[in-house]
Amino acid sequence: MRKVDFHTHSKYSDGTTTPQDIVARAKRDGVEILFLTDHDTVSGFPEARDAAKGSGVLLHCGIEINTIYQDNLHILGYGIRWEDAGFRERLEEFQGRRRLRIERMVEALRKHGLDISFDDVAGQSLETLGRPHIADLLRRKGIVQNRQEAFNRYLIKGKPGYVESMGPSAEEAIALIRDAGGFCSVAHPETVADLEALSRWTRYGLEGLEVYYSTHTPSDIVRYGRLAESLGLLCTGGTDFHGPGSGRDKALGVEVPDEVYDRFMDRLAKCF
Ligand code: AMP
Ligand code: ZN
Ligand code: FE
Ligand code: FE
Repeated sequence: MRKVDFHTHSKYSDGTTTPQDIVARAKRDGVEILFLTDHDTVSGFPEARDAAKGSGVLLHCGIEINTIYQDNLHILGYGIRWEDAGFRERLEEFQGRRRLRIERMVEALRKHGLDISFDDVAGQSLETLGRPHIADLLRRKGIVQNRQEAFNRYLIKGKPGYVESMGPSAEEAIALIRDAGGFCSVAHPETVADLEALSRWTRYGLEGLEVYYSTHTPSDIVRYGRLAESLGLLCTGGTDFHGPGSGRDKALGVEVPDEVYDRFMDRLAKCF
């Protein structure tokens, strides 16, 4: 088995800690290969790269793109040319759409009687905005205890702060990552109610499924592993670490079998 983490978030999106701290934790937790996969941004990667130099942790730049599909299909991208200008331009467009959505959500919550401002929400992120930033402000104000409670009471579909996602389609996200020289995996597949669409996305260029994930039980791993195999998809693995106080703050790293690791690394090597 090999310990890897292909799914982590920093303060450049909705994580609560720095890229440097994530690298330090990866080293402490014995992670061999680490990807920083912030939502719709690669701006944290240079800081992580500097921290990783000489640390023994092999670091790569990744991305996670939240799509409009059921508002919870998230596409992870690996092996991307992260400095590509066209790629970064599209990410900035997605960031702008997220900003607009969060502005509307803050407005809806203000109408609902909550005393919050957009500037206070936005000030918590170094780049990409998301619902967790509203959640953290509600926690700081003592309105909720944690992110989970904020989502359940205010931020999910049907609740007072909810506004539909303005993210790209699954196909757009896949095409963007592929155009930047990378390959894609579907994150935390248990959040996608309808996995029927997986075969369609696979024909469209999807190459992986996040079979190994912090909350997956051994039977989840078997089930998703079989699904990946039946579609010819690579298995990927990550924790979805979001930093201290996020509720997704356990140790970094998931154990994956050597053959899963080798197949992923062979595919990654083809990108460069
Ligand atoms: P958004 O990108 O604004 O749609 O917000 C979705 C993000 O919020 C996900 O990428 C997760 O990082 C986080 N998230 C989603 N559901 C929850 C939850 N129940 N508790 C804490 N964080 C969540
Ligand atoms: Zn997140
Ligand atoms: Fe996600
Ligand atoms: Fe994530």
